[in-house]
Amino acid sequence: MNPTRADQIGPLEMFKIGVGPSSSHTVGPMLAALRFRDEMLEFLAKKGTEKENLSLTVELFGSLSATGRGHMTDGAISAGLTGLHPKTADPDEIWQAIPKLKKEKLIHVGDRVVVFDPDNDLKWGGFTMGDKPLPHPNTIRFSLLRKDKPVLSTVMVSIGGGFIESVDPDTGMRRAPDLASIKQLPYPYDSAAEFIEVCEKSSLTPWQIVIENQKAKGISEEELRKGLNDVLKTFDACIERGLKADGILPGGLKVRRRAKELYKQLKQGKRKPALGGDLRPSVYAMAVNEENAAGGRVVTAPTNGSSGLIPAVWRTLKETNKLSKKTMENGLIVASVIGALVKTHASISGAEVGCQGEVGTSCAMAAAGAVAMLGGSVRQMEQAAEIGIEHHLGMTCDPIQGLVQIPCIERNAMGAVKALNAVYLSLASDGRHIVSLDKALAVMKQTGLDMNQQYKETATGGLALG
Ligand code: SF4
Repeated sequence: MNPTRADQIGPLEMFKIGVGPSSSHTVGPMLAALRFRDEMLEFLAKKGTEKENLSLTVELFGSLSATGRGHMTDGAISAGLTGLHPKTADPDEIWQAIPKLKKEKLIHVGDRVVVFDPDNDLKWGGFTMGDKPLPHPNTIRFSLLRKDKPVLSTVMVSIGGGFIESVDPDTGMRRAPDLASIKQLPYPYDSAAEFIEVCEKSSLTPWQIVIENQKAKGISEEELRKGLNDVLKTFDACIERGLKADGILPGGLKVRRRAKELYKQLKQGKRKPALGGDLRPSVYAMAVNEENAAGGRVVTAPTNGSSGLIPAVWRTLKETNKLSKKTMENGLIVASVIGALVKTHASISGAEVGCQGEVGTSCAMAAAGAVAMLGGSVRQMEQAAEIGIEHHLGMTCDPIQGLVQIPCIERNAMGAVKALNAVYLSLASDGRHIVSLDKALAVMKQTGLDMNQQYKETATGGLALG
């Protein structure tokens, strides 16, 4: 269910540990497949249900169909259908699921066997379902069949950042927000202006506001911090792997990994003094995004395509400012508030609004979180986030061959540098500025609506045309 209020989305929902290369095209479909597996289990457990001659089809529509091969969507769905979870399963095991299924052509669901051959039973559809419009650019239909006739069918949409929703079977559209499920929180907010207000009216820091709200949702501070610590460890492990790996990234585009060589040059001091600057945020971001492109373990921040930017900024600031673990956790909490505001009032999905929703959002999240870690005020956090969004407005999503490689890897490097610049600009100011974050988000949403579909993760325009 799409949340209606930003305060309902917690940090651990925003930062999800999973696998690359895409949160909307890999993690979301894998979670959708897992959810359908549960539905099949429940259906087959019903008394009187005939449990023989079962088979399964999976249809991918819209952007999932246009760029799903490059994003390894078929592999992710195969892994989810066999019961693997993106957070807990080893990435190697996940990517072995599809060759295994192609060989065996069977899925074990409880004590039943369901025929599924990815080569024939996974279908790549178009931008409509029959004669009906899609409920979302990333739509999947799962159907369990008995003697080739559907007995259980579910349509799900992958709405970005690894979030999924089931579609209303009566209308074929996304369900209306469930107002009854909204939790009453001690510090409610649903806009950047309201967040500033609750922070300034209380004696709490911005991250304490979120911690208190999370407690009201049944998540203790200890639990929250443990989850965030896992996120930080995953960031670091991913950077380390990316700095050591070399070779060509999978997918056929023959993109060479560059982070290791750049890091070597950095360590050896091979830089022209006149260039100035610090290459670290770029190299760290590229290390993560190369790992993401290779299907490795990453964290949605807020998506996989934009997974390198926040780890790069956190690692750079940890090294330059000797930040404590707790301070970095607090920074993640503030970053998640910005991500939740964008998700609620614009979008974090490249298929919905282009890359402004992915790298743009990540830049804004990183900038606000970094201001928090460096001791800035809540108004400076909002200003930094607004700068991060404003200078990505209109940015399209046109990955070549649908692979999360070009422009995505370098785009995270550029975003990390921009985020740090937004931090410097806001910390040098008093937080007063003309365009509010709320206004920038409204513009982002409208720009996304106006953007031609070929620039929204369909690999049919821009750089994707070569
Ligand atoms: S261009 Fe941006 S939005 Fe599109 S896949 Fe790459 S990182 Fe994601």
